[in-house]
Amino acid sequence: MIKTEHKQEYYQALIDKNTDYEGLFYVGVKTTGVFCRPTCPARKPKFENCEFYETAKQALLASFRPCKRCRPLSHPNQVSEVVQMLVEAIEEQPEKRWKDMDFRQLSIDASTARRQFKKRFGMTFVEYARARRMGIAMKQIRAGENVIEAQLTAGYESSSGFRDAFSRIMGSAPSLMGSSNILKASWLDTPLGPMVAIADDEALYLLEFVDRRGLEREVERLRQRTKSAIIPGYTQPIHSIEHELNQYFDGKLTHFLTPVCYLGSPFQQKVWEQLRQIPIGETRSYLELATTIGRPTAFRAVAQANGANQLAIMVPCHRVINSNGDLAGYGGGIARKQWLINHEKQIGNK
Ligand SMILES: [Zn+2]
Repeated sequence: MIKTEHKQEYYQALIDKNTDYEGLFYVGVKTTGVFCRPTCPARKPKFENCEFYETAKQALLASFRPCKRCRPLSHPNQVSEVVQMLVEAIEEQPEKRWKDMDFRQLSIDASTARRQFKKRFGMTFVEYARARRMGIAMKQIRAGENVIEAQLTAGYESSSGFRDAFSRIMGSAPSLMGSSNILKASWLDTPLGPMVAIADDEALYLLEFVDRRGLEREVERLRQRTKSAIIPGYTQPIHSIEHELNQYFDGKLTHFLTPVCYLGSPFQQKVWEQLRQIPIGETRSYLELATTIGRPTAFRAVAQANGANQLAIMVPCHRVINSNGDLAGYGGGIARKQWLINHEKQIGNK
C-alpha cells in the first residue's frame, strides 16, 4: 500500500521523469484512464488526478489501461514485439476470454507468449487479460450507480466491449434479465488495498480484495447460486460493512455485526461460523479448528472450507495457520495475512 508521503515523492519523480523510479511505481491518471511509468514523455497530470500503484496489475485492476506513449507493460529499452502485440490485441477486445487457440490466430506461439509475458510482468498473459477485464467491471463499480444509470439512459459510450466486459463478469443488466434478483457491488478503499463488497438489502454476500486470485470465478458462482444480476451501488449492509471496516482498521472494532449470507455447504458454514469464534489477536491451526467442530480427522476439508471463504477479514480465515507456526496460504496474499495478524494482536492487547 502506498503511503501519503510516498505519493508526494512519487509525484516528484514523475515530474522529474526520474529513471531511478522505473519499476518502483506506476501512476494511474484519473482524467485519461491510462496508467504510465514514471518517465512517461506525455504532459504530466495534476497531483490530485494521480493514483499510484506498486504493480501494473494493481493499476489494471483499478481499471486503468496501459499508456500508448510510455508503454508501461514493456521494458523501457526493449519493447518485445510479441508482448506489444498481445497488449494491443487485448485493448481491441478487452472483454474477451483468451485461450491458446487465440494465440495461434495471431501467429504467436502460446508458450513463447506465456514465457515472455511472465518474465516482463510477473504475471501470465491470461492473468493480465483477466486483470484488465476485471478492471473494466471495477471501473463501473467505482463509478457508482449514478454514472451507471446515466449510461443506461444515454446508451453506453463508444466501445460496446466495455459493457460486455462488465456484464460478462457481473451479469446482464437487470432490464435484460426480467424478474431476476439484484445484488449491488461497491468498491471500498482500505489500508490494505481496495476491496469489493456485494450485498442485497438484507445481507452481505461477498467481501474480497479486488486483486484476489479467483475473484472472477467467485463472482460467477455467486451470480449462479443466487440467480442474480450484479449492478454497481450501495445497500444498507454495504454501508454497514464500510463503517465497520474503517473502525476495524482504526483498531476500534473486534466483532463484525453486519448481517451476512453464507453460500456454502452446511459443513463450510459450520467452519465459517467457527472461524468467527476465534478471538481477535489469536490464531488456530487447521487441526485445532477441525477438533473444535468435532471432526479432528477432517482438517483438510476444514482447510478447503477456510479457503472457500468469501467474506475476507470479517470471517477471519486469516487467523488459521499451520501447526508449526507457518502462515500457510491466503487468498489475498501472505503479506496481507501477516499484516492482519499483527494488527489484530495490537487490538487484542488493548
Ligand atoms: Zn505514459
